[in-house]
Amino acid sequence: MILVKNVRFFYDGTKIRENVGVLIDEEDNVTLETDKTDIVIDGSGKILMPAFFNAHTHLPMIIMRGNHEDQYFHDWLAGVWRVEEKLTPEIVYHASVVSIAENMRGGVTSAISMYFFYEETARAVEEFELPYYVGPVFVDDHKMGDRVSSAERFFKESWDHVIPTIFSHAPYTCSPETLETVAELKEKYNVPHQIHVSETREEVVDIKRKYGLYPAEYVDKHVPLDEKTTLVHGGWLTKGELDLIARKGAALVHCPVSNAKLATHGFFPWREAQERKIRILLGTDSQVSNNTQDMFMEMRMAALAAKDRYWDATVAPVSEVLSAARGPGWMLVDVSGLRFFPATRKNVLANLVFNGHSDLVTHVILNGRVRYPFDEKIEKRIERSKEFLLNALTTLYPD
Ligand SMILES: [Zn+2]
Repeated sequence: MILVKNVRFFYDGTKIRENVGVLIDEEDNVTLETDKTDIVIDGSGKILMPAFFNAHTHLPMIIMRGNHEDQYFHDWLAGVWRVEEKLTPEIVYHASVVSIAENMRGGVTSAISMYFFYEETARAVEEFELPYYVGPVFVDDHKMGDRVSSAERFFKESWDHVIPTIFSHAPYTCSPETLETVAELKEKYNVPHQIHVSETREEVVDIKRKYGLYPAEYVDKHVPLDEKTTLVHGGWLTKGELDLIARKGAALVHCPVSNAKLATHGFFPWREAQERKIRILLGTDSQVSNNTQDMFMEMRMAALAAKDRYWDATVAPVSEVLSAARGPGWMLVDVSGLRFFPATRKNVLANLVFNGHSDLVTHVILNGRVRYPFDEKIEKRIERSKEFLLNALTTLYPD
């Protein structure tokens, strides 16, 4: 058990307690004011708040950060695919290690990561002992037989921490047959499903022309949407699709930085989703379409983009943005610096949304254990992986 002393404590909606002692048990339940504990952390000048859930990323793409800038979406994608052809399982493992470290360091205790060589990411996730959603990704190709058998192997394995998940890449890369295969596996192993949907206008036009359906309808026809489904991007969804998503209980993952950076335009339907009580989650997407895994920056962008696009400053209020980012466990954020001055109970949450930063996270607690700062063993593992990746970089980007 961990006792955080003298801390400002944010725990639910907009409730804040000042200068309290908070005890965190093995299941991350909290109680106030007690001295029965093993570890004591001084929380002076800090806020104790829920850690983050990064609902969409591609962890291993950290290796490509900053190397695919200022390009049109399809040129960008083609450039990324060219580098991906050179990736090996070993690179993906080490990239996963460093990328998980980056997420953890910024307060992310759980994430959904879509990428190939997923067994390698799963290995890294197990080493960090984190509840990350990882698993097979389906796209149209000639290797479907292999893909299905390795997916089944993965789902049959018993994982201590990984939450096995099935991914379809997107409507424009998955035929009805591919999606039917995903549906069968999803049903058989009762796993969550994630897919990119309605990211660009071109996708909507193509899918409608080809199948007579909008992208979310097309997905639902072949892999029925449900509470375990997360649809990523959704910048071009119609009201009919939003009604469908609400009826089925699926969640929308908003990646505002990635959408802005790749200029996919669109309009994330924050207000319409809230009206229909659709769960909104936030995701950073990969470091290639974002450059960071910083959920504070994602919250800021989500709030700003919604207000700007709707011409309405009341859309995406602080409380909704904070709850869209909420994950398991707790984190301590240093709010004593000038950037938060004057930090009071009244303004601190707004300042976290609009002016927070991952570098201000001092501690991350999950399952009643301090996970960040990293222990020596994890620290060594991260350093080894960084070194490996720096060497690999010369083969991925020779010039
Ligand atoms: Zn993505």
